[in-house]
Amino acid sequence: MSLSYISGMKPYNIFNLFFCLMLSQSAFSENEEIVLHDAHIHYSQDMWDILPVDQALKMMKEAGVNRALVSATPTEGAEKLFKADPDLVIPMLRPYKSWRHRFTWFKDPELKSYLLEHLKRIAYRGFGEFHVFGEDADTQAVAQMIALAQERNMPLHAHTDLLGMNILLRKASGLAVIWAHGGFDVATEKLEALLKIYPEFYIELSYREGMMDESLKLTPEWNALLNKYQKRFLVGMDTYKPSRWVNLPENTAHARVWLKQLPENVAADIARNNLDYLFPVKHNKGLYRDALNK
Ligand SMILES: [Zn+2]
Repeated sequence: MSLSYISGMKPYNIFNLFFCLMLSQSAFSENEEIVLHDAHIHYSQDMWDILPVDQALKMMKEAGVNRALVSATPTEGAEKLFKADPDLVIPMLRPYKSWRHRFTWFKDPELKSYLLEHLKRIAYRGFGEFHVFGEDADTQAVAQMIALAQERNMPLHAHTDLLGMNILLRKASGLAVIWAHGGFDVATEKLEALLKIYPEFYIELSYREGMMDESLKLTPEWNALLNKYQKRFLVGMDTYKPSRWVNLPENTAHARVWLKQLPENVAADIARNNLDYLFPVKHNKGLYRDALNK
């Protein structure tokens, strides 16, 4: 391929070429083994041109991701992927109109009407991933979103700190609440305390720190925690920026490194079954057809 051909390509074609090169070199033999149902995929506006819908879906499938919670800023990104593949995509309603809105949504008096308007568009299955920290989780707008979730039994997927998570868990009784990134570096004792108190509390493990030692072996404390609470953890890749899409094959392979250190049934729960329990397959197609018929 000549350089002039490459320089004449549109930017997204060059990006696609880059993806293809990445894919052909990645660790596929490992990636074929454990099918993943991923709790943390984003398809935000900065990806729409450089990674078209069909390519994004193809990348997920090639990385062995057969189902995924998808959210986006704006949330129309989740709608695009869902409409193209309602079997693979579990759409999450992200409460942001834009990146800027991410920092104010929890104080937005118009939030409820924004959410209601979007709930009519497709069969959204949950709210998130949303960012809110500390006392900001205790606003009227957040309470209204939780009430909508409770009416519809839609899980929450929250990127928050320990105080924010405690507030959400108290307010969202009866609802599954997923902590994105497992609080990053929150001590495992604190995670375990919440797992004990709240039976509908789940931990999603993208970017979770301290799980493995330098030789990529699960630490004894993480090994024990994952085994003890095998029904409460979810894998996630968090494709929040283009490079995370590029690295999807490597990141899924990395997750399989620690999953393979667990008993097979524990690995299967964390890799797939827990997501399927929270977002059963049977509802997906039915609700999508309902939405289309409206
Ligand atoms: Zn996050």
